Amino acid sequence: MRRALGQWDQTVKNLRIGVDVGGTKIEALALDAAGREVFRRRITTPRGDYAATIRAIELLVREAGEGTVGVGIPGSISSKTGLVKNANSTWLIGKPLKRDLEAALETEIRIENDANCFALSEATDGAGKGAAVVFGVILGTGVGGGVVVQGRVLAGANRVAGEWGHNPLPAPAAADLPLPDCYCGRRGCIETYLSGPGLSRDYERRTGERKTAEEIVSLGDPAVQSYIERLARALAGVINVLDPDVIVLGGGMSNVARLYTEVPRLWTRHVFSDHVATRLAPPVHGDSSGVRGAAWLWEGRE
Ligand SMILES: [Zn+2]
Repeated sequence: MRRALGQWDQTVKNLRIGVDVGGTKIEALALDAAGREVFRRRITTPRGDYAATIRAIELLVREAGEGTVGVGIPGSISSKTGLVKNANSTWLIGKPLKRDLEAALETEIRIENDANCFALSEATDGAGKGAAVVFGVILGTGVGGGVVVQGRVLAGANRVAGEWGHNPLPAPAAADLPLPDCYCGRRGCIETYLSGPGLSRDYERRTGERKTAEEIVSLGDPAVQSYIERLARALAGVINVLDPDVIVLGGGMSNVARLYTEVPRLWTRHVFSDHVATRLAPPVHGDSSGVRGAAWLWEGRE
């Protein structure tokens, strides 16, 4: 155990503690047995400093109280090496983050990809509550995804289940060419079209002007229509493989209300079915879903 419990601890033990490790901030939250939030704190990420990152997480968890600890990270822990891979917070890559945190906290923890935590949060008590299969999508600075089946994260044999952002955009048309280069080394990745920066790039290519995704959306520019059409194509590919009950969108682009009516209208022509029952839903917990999902990582798994 991490530390001895005193009498006063009776109300703060048995918490579900979640930590969301982001590139700019680290957030911790604690839920009580009823799922109510009883603690939340956000600090600035000690960027580039691994030891300070470990220390910061340790202090946040100790402040949150006593309970199970789940941690959401960019990237994932390699099942081959036990080291962090695929993280855009690059100072975590190649580090034994789980082992070091467990040593610091003197307790076993669970670590999951942040998009998986988002999907788990929305599947547990958010937009996908009660659904058997939920696909959670992050449309933000990057594009990620996570799969939750019967309330559990489907991590996958390679720990990349749901990592749909680095699949190629299906059926590229003339307007999708030339295929944009992706930082991952591939070309035409879904992320290069459907991230916020992807929308900005598409707009700049046509107009020669630089604008943020938010500005482009508020202009109602035709680039948004292209974005919607590409999202429909890309999600149809997910439906054909996974056939989820609900797809929940997260990240900055999930605030665009048009997506929820127009994308399902367009995806039917790409889905191999006479009708599409899959719901496309906005998130209930929004930006909080990463840290909430981390807190739920010990739920329903033994
Ligand atoms: Zn890529």
